[in-house]
Amino acid sequence: AFDVLVVGGGPAGAAAAIYAARKGIRVGLAAERFGGQVLDTMGIENFISVQHTEGPKLVAQLEQHVKDYDVDIMNLQRAEKLIPAKTEGGLHEVKLASGASLKARTVILSTGARWRQLGVPGEDEYRNKGVAYCPHCDGPLYKGKRVAVIGGGNSGVEAAIDLAGLVAHVTLIEFDSELRADAVLQRKLASLPNVKIITSALTTEVLGDGEKVMGLSYKDRNKDELHQIELEGVFVQIGLVPNTEWLKDSVTLSRHGEIEVDHRGETSQAGIFAAGDCTTVPYKQIVIAMGEGSKAALSAFDYMIRLPAD
Ligand code: FAD
Repeated sequence: AFDVLVVGGGPAGAAAAIYAARKGIRVGLAAERFGGQVLDTMGIENFISVQHTEGPKLVAQLEQHVKDYDVDIMNLQRAEKLIPAKTEGGLHEVKLASGASLKARTVILSTGARWRQLGVPGEDEYRNKGVAYCPHCDGPLYKGKRVAVIGGGNSGVEAAIDLAGLVAHVTLIEFDSELRADAVLQRKLASLPNVKIITSALTTEVLGDGEKVMGLSYKDRNKDELHQIELEGVFVQIGLVPNTEWLKDSVTLSRHGEIEVDHRGETSQAGIFAAGDCTTVPYKQIVIAMGEGSKAALSAFDYMIRLPAD
């Protein structure tokens, strides 16, 4: 059995594995796709102390760093079920889709999240070429340009307010007849001179010239008319979905499906910790996921050294 089993191989899982392995204990890491969301990222400019890097390059460095330690990496392995230990200090069990079963004294869940996609033509084609999901990451790339934010919930309206301070113009597009964000955010948004709000609008296509985004088209749902807007960027803000569907019977999740953790990164089950985008910790970013992964590993170690010797 492992002392620490990390499930997920993004920045949170890699950091957790390194911190745990540095304690000289038995560490395993099972990941569906080592690297996680970072593999899908182009330019990264907010990984502090590294002015600019690219997703695949950072993933290669993460992997090399983990491999410097004695970590049993099980890549391309999807976890399907977590069975918490029956008694405190007993072994937790993680069942993989391959049929294998892993046992561990502590588990660190770091399965990340995925941005909900629009599913319209042009979205995949222009991903990282004008289609973006993270205003904190990509906002500055659109300085002085025109962008749209799709989604009028809290994250969409926050993104529009944030971007309005950086870009020339923001069009916020909401499918419903009204925005769903908190009233205080809506008031702030309405006060900004370079923001236009369009409601009852179904985004139908991201338009481009084959290289980059040039605009988008939407259908006015009241009049059943198609419209086009010229712009350089589209920020999709229709939800971040945590990869926790497989955990709903084993640990407490928030109503958004995020794993609830305390300030040490411990879940509702003793000896089971969680870190990164799959948790309730706000602001989904690489440096934050790494910090949380490190913290969860130190908490797991602390937990372990307090268990009675067997
Ligand atoms: P993830 O990176 O999502 O990794 C999750 C891991 O868990 C993966 O290995 C996955 O395969 C695995 N997994 C999932 N389910 C299972 C399962 N059932 N069994 C086994 N393994 C599983 N952040 C920044 O700080 N700067 C940026 O510039 C930036 N740009 C971004 C651009 C894009 C396009 C995207 C999508 C995100 C960007 N982010 C950026 C956000 C950043 O990538 C995430 O905050 C970070 O990757 C979260 O790390 P994580 O380890 O929690 O999760």
